[in-house]
Amino acid sequence: MILDRIKESADDAPLQTAVHSLQGEITYGELWDRSDSLAAYLDGNIGNHLPVIVYGHKDLLMIIAFLACAKSGRAYCPVDTSMSGERIADIVNTVGEAAVIITADEYDEKVWPENARLIDKKQTEKICAAGGTISESEWLGGDDVFYIIFTSGSTGRPKGVQITNGNLSAFAEWSSDLGGPRAEKRHGTYINQAPFSFDLSVMDIYTSLTNCCRLWCVEKSLQSDHEALLRYIKQGCPDYWVSTPSFANLCLADREFNDELMPDMKAFYFCGETLNKDTAARLRERFPRAAVVNTYGPTESTCAVTGTVITAEMLKDPRPLPIGTVKPGTGIAICNNEIIISGDSLSPGYLNDPQKTQAAFFTAEGGERSYHTGDAGHFDGDMLYYEGRIDMQIKYHGYRIELSDIESNLMALDGVSEAAVVPAFREDRISNIAAFIVSGKYQDVFEDRQKIRNGLRDRLPGYMVPKIIKFTDAFPMTGNGKIDRKALQKIIQEVD
Ligand code: AMP
Repeated sequence: MILDRIKESADDAPLQTAVHSLQGEITYGELWDRSDSLAAYLDGNIGNHLPVIVYGHKDLLMIIAFLACAKSGRAYCPVDTSMSGERIADIVNTVGEAAVIITADEYDEKVWPENARLIDKKQTEKICAAGGTISESEWLGGDDVFYIIFTSGSTGRPKGVQITNGNLSAFAEWSSDLGGPRAEKRHGTYINQAPFSFDLSVMDIYTSLTNCCRLWCVEKSLQSDHEALLRYIKQGCPDYWVSTPSFANLCLADREFNDELMPDMKAFYFCGETLNKDTAARLRERFPRAAVVNTYGPTESTCAVTGTVITAEMLKDPRPLPIGTVKPGTGIAICNNEIIISGDSLSPGYLNDPQKTQAAFFTAEGGERSYHTGDAGHFDGDMLYYEGRIDMQIKYHGYRIELSDIESNLMALDGVSEAAVVPAFREDRISNIAAFIVSGKYQDVFEDRQKIRNGLRDRLPGYMVPKIIKFTDAFPMTGNGKIDRKALQKIIQEVD
């Protein structure tokens, strides 16, 4: 189980750095002792076993608090500082108003309910330093919920995905050997980009901590200062990289992002959105000795359930890049074009939301508990290919159109590095299709827009060729580091 593996790291290398962030760093020994102390406090002072909300960004206290919760037999629920007050209030309501909130960062009083049970940063630091101990008998069991991550939920209240200790252990067991054997990863350094409230971060946090590696956390503030970002990354001498493809694109925009900056890089891991060929090819060119690994999975199945190293053949293949073969212990079936997931990393459901759980999870007669991903896909042999969100399917002038299909055809055109296609609405009806393109070759002028349209006309029926084409230097990103499609849609609404 997860804590046993982290304990091995702490026993083997107590003086090795476990986590580094802009605020400093802590060793495995310190991580273990401080989380023991905080766990002992929770055990002795908190009368309920509700999940504990842990608020902050990349502070070292966040990771300490995650482990402390698990050691005291409680789930944790990470809440990033970028979340709005409204969303935080929703989360507190769903978790339960008696839930304890550990804050690892400064906070605005207004975001918390009046009677919230807050342990503020100073107090948390003091408790961590107090030196308490906790018995292993208090630790979470295999079926207990380890963490709860709230997903955005396009409408209504966000959903709290519960992930058990067993789910997380099954994931870490697989991810440890992904893209290279675990023995080679020991003592290496992992780059963490994703906020801890985004499940992509599970890949770097737990693969790193269970393999005695160093977690090098990149703060969001660094993303707006390229020079500082690259300096910080270089300082970490990373071996492994976990991010969204969008974040890698942001870094690739700088020529200095190459193997002189990071000579030890062994593998880049991606998840959360489509990895396009241009990104993978540029990484292979700039880092010839590093593997590029594409992984796929929703939060509901613990971060990722498929993965593959991208090969030169895959880059030459006219199809989009595959998302990989299926992790042992996971089952994937394609039903009516939809990817259905079952197996040992599948969440038991959404916190305090039986209705939504029932809508998304099901048990086929005589079959296994399974999850509707809402993603379209197909297998070629044992390799899975992603075909976009089922809800990215639109009806336009009566035609059924896959927006992701337009995107992959755009990216197959010479000179197009990235593409995102969104519908524009007028009074609830789709009035246009708009394509946003990042390109080093084209300018935002009529002739170049025509070239793109003509290129698409050779590949797609006319009704799928977007009327609006916009070139941009970079896409807006969500707090999690994915392409912000809602922001793109807003730009279109404003000009439409
Ligand atoms: P989240 O639960 O926020 O991690 O989002 C999961 C969704 O991100 C999946 O259901 C997919 O739609 C998308 N996704 C994850 N990984 C990939 C990938 N490698 N390629 C394309 N889409 C992905």
